[in-house]
Amino acid sequence: MEGLEVGKCPVCEALLEVSRPTVGQQLECPECGEVLQVASTSPLKLYYALPLDEEPLIEEEHRKRL
Ligand SMILES: [Zn+2]
Repeated sequence: MEGLEVGKCPVCEALLEVSRPTVGQQLECPECGEVLQVASTSPLKLYYALPLDEEPLIEEEHRKRL
């Protein structure tokens, strides 16, 4: 599938497939519902769409699942 990139959700670390991503594109993680933004396309990097005012403790909590 051409143009399909795989990136990781920074919140729950689920793998998201994004077709033809563009920098700045926003999408919602199907696993945790977090709104993410494409930070880079090759390789695909996803980051929080909303500014982070709080410490990223959520990431540590979700890591326990693995
Ligand atoms: Zn997620």
